[in-house]
Amino acid sequence: MNSTCTMAPLNLYDCTRDQLRHRLGQWGVKPVHVASLWNYLYVQQVSSVDEMRDLPAKLQAHLRAEATVGVLPPVMTTDSTDGFTRKFLLGLTDGRRVETVKMRFTGRVTACVSSQVGCAMGCVFCATGQMGFARHLTAGEIVAQVVHVARAVMLAAPAGARAEARRVRNVVLMGMGEPLHNYDAVMHAIDILRDNAGLALGADRITLSTVGVVPGILRLAAEGRALRLAVSLHAATQAERAALVPVARKWPLDELMAACRTYSEATGRRIFYEWALIAGENDTPAHARAVGALLGGMNAHVNLIPLNPTAGYGGASTPLAAARAFQHILSGEFHLPSTLRQRRGIDIGAGCGQLAVSSPG
Ligand code: SAH
Ligand code: SF4
Repeated sequence: MNSTCTMAPLNLYDCTRDQLRHRLGQWGVKPVHVASLWNYLYVQQVSSVDEMRDLPAKLQAHLRAEATVGVLPPVMTTDSTDGFTRKFLLGLTDGRRVETVKMRFTGRVTACVSSQVGCAMGCVFCATGQMGFARHLTAGEIVAQVVHVARAVMLAAPAGARAEARRVRNVVLMGMGEPLHNYDAVMHAIDILRDNAGLALGADRITLSTVGVVPGILRLAAEGRALRLAVSLHAATQAERAALVPVARKWPLDELMAACRTYSEATGRRIFYEWALIAGENDTPAHARAVGALLGGMNAHVNLIPLNPTAGYGGASTPLAAARAFQHILSGEFHLPSTLRQRRGIDIGAGCGQLAVSSPG
């Protein structure tokens, strides 16, 4: 059992349905009432115990005295000019803050959530890395971000909108932080997000992006976790990668690729490799061929992300024509599928690697 579901006061977002059922039993409340409690939390998405009017009086009394709904209040909300992206700065109970992004692609909503305040991995081109590490998020704080986006979607949906347009379809752990550095809380949050009676996210609708924490990838493989795995590669040689991603010194490229192979063999799943295209650094035809040679024959898909600007890094984004040429080499010479990500939310600092907050303490 995850320890955060035993803390006082109890953050209801920290608990799986089974854990809550168990708690109801301890309170002498019929476990069957967990269904209504879960419905209030994840279907109606109420933000306080006071709104849970139809629960038995005994359960309400225990919830009022011992529990909270761990809603994270928005400190700031910013919309991108193209109307597809909205960024939320959410307040945590210790005064720190995290950023969460709501994105809409072809009518479907994706929540991009943070797993930590800051990040300890120090990738040179990433604003979160540039701010350093403050702390891990709890499972409840990760779940609360998705509920925040879900509530925003529900409120914004026009009356009569299709059910699909009224819910969060995808979750990507690509906000602030390194999810495999906060493994237990992230997996516990995923268990809660996947619950069929709640937010009901499908396994292939949750993407976890890692900088390449080798022990975490091997643990995912051993546990057979149902999710989509993305690995931030950015370079195809150890020396080039270590210059961009300092933790490559701890988990070298050959060990990372071995772990990726183990993961694919154990799970049968394809891995998505992220590549931030930086002009002159990792975007030449020679670089494309090096990626092709590294990933050719593997169950791989490459996500090309033109570099987003951050205050602490001087690199420039690859021009579109060069990005297309890079992609062409991957497909033409190596039969390696890839996607060139559209740049969205750059004007509000909501693009990949742009999330950063100044946090007190
Ligand atoms: N820590 C995880 C997930 C968060 S970052 C990881 O690193 O994978 C999400 C993605 O954004 C990663 O692929 C990361 O390398 C990429 N990224 C970071 N900074 C970026 C930037 N300035 N421009 C484009 N992509 C960036
Ligand atoms: Fe951390 Fe990912 Fe940013 Fe690297 S890219 S500093 S791992 S959040």
